[in-house]
Amino acid sequence: MTTYNFNPGPSPLPQEVLDHAQANMFNFEQSGMGIMELSHRSPQYEGVHNQTIKQIRKLLDVPEDYSVLLLQGGASLQFAMSAMNFLPADQKAAFVMTGSWSEKAKKEASFYGQTYELATSKANQYKNIPEVDLSLVSPDTAYIHYTSNNTIFGTQWTRFPNSDQPAIVDMSSDILSKEVDWNTVDMAYAGAQKNAGMSGVTIVIVRNSLLDHASENVSPTLSYKQHDKANSLYNTPPTSAIYMTGLVCDWIEKNGGLKGMKQRAEEKAQLIYDEIDGSEGFYTGHADTASRSNMNVTFNLPSEELEKSFLAKAKAEGFVGLNGHRSVGGCRASIYNAVPKEHVEKLISFMKEFRSVNK
Ligand code: PMP
Repeated sequence: MTTYNFNPGPSPLPQEVLDHAQANMFNFEQSGMGIMELSHRSPQYEGVHNQTIKQIRKLLDVPEDYSVLLLQGGASLQFAMSAMNFLPADQKAAFVMTGSWSEKAKKEASFYGQTYELATSKANQYKNIPEVDLSLVSPDTAYIHYTSNNTIFGTQWTRFPNSDQPAIVDMSSDILSKEVDWNTVDMAYAGAQKNAGMSGVTIVIVRNSLLDHASENVSPTLSYKQHDKANSLYNTPPTSAIYMTGLVCDWIEKNGGLKGMKQRAEEKAQLIYDEIDGSEGFYTGHADTASRSNMNVTFNLPSEELEKSFLAKAKAEGFVGLNGHRSVGGCRASIYNAVPKEHVEKLISFMKEFRSVNK
């Protein structure tokens, strides 16, 4: 039976990437050593490391005056690390609250400094991206934090406000799915396990002028400056995960770069939203139309009973990961870059069939 993997992350990798890794991972460049057996100080590994950084730069069109770091600890560590490095005691960090991950980001940062909510859509069950009134930014704000795609609620930003304060953006669930306007982003971070490879490596892209202001009072392993100085080789990096990110970048480049990824994402998402909108109320989308995500499509059925039956039947037919996050229930299809359009089409057929039998 074919598996249709709609997991929210870790999630599918492109088949070509898996095939390439299978053929090369265990005997890297005929060295008789697997990628995970190479010293991180060896020229072979350094080649992989630098090429991966170069590819990230190229695909995302990262300006010269930004550094690309490859760290560990997941996006969750970045919630804390961004505050440790960029939130002085006499300043505050502003958070735009668009879901559970913004809440976690703010909570972690609050251990290291003062934080406040600049805007929130919580009262609307995080169904929309809120308007941000920049006149409410207090003058002692060190940075404004955004979550670019809300994995659990299924909403996504299309553009960030252009503020005077640095913008730090959690791009965990939509990095490499579209181009980034670096005029509005001073630091971006993302765990790789959705669009950029496998779990274990976290991509951090930071403007050097912001980096210059990073606190000197942070232990070296948690200091962006330290990792930048060492080209992300201060301590042992997650070498295999970085290798996989490099392969994923190559695949993205071959498939039209970020323009290609954006088009694929829009097409796939539109197919599901069309089915939801055309279902005469059988399926209801969680997100407000204007805030809909191209990465995570969240929806409900008329009753919890029907949702259970939908998920059970889907599972029996090979669909994986369609349940909503445990905190919100309902259904969610995560359709990151590597999810083939044909799998989305299969899902639509399944949704149509289920609706015709159960309406
Ligand atoms: N931010 C967002 C938007 C996420 O979707 C996730 C993971 N699902 C995280 C942060 C946390 O990432 P990690 O598990 O890599 O710490």
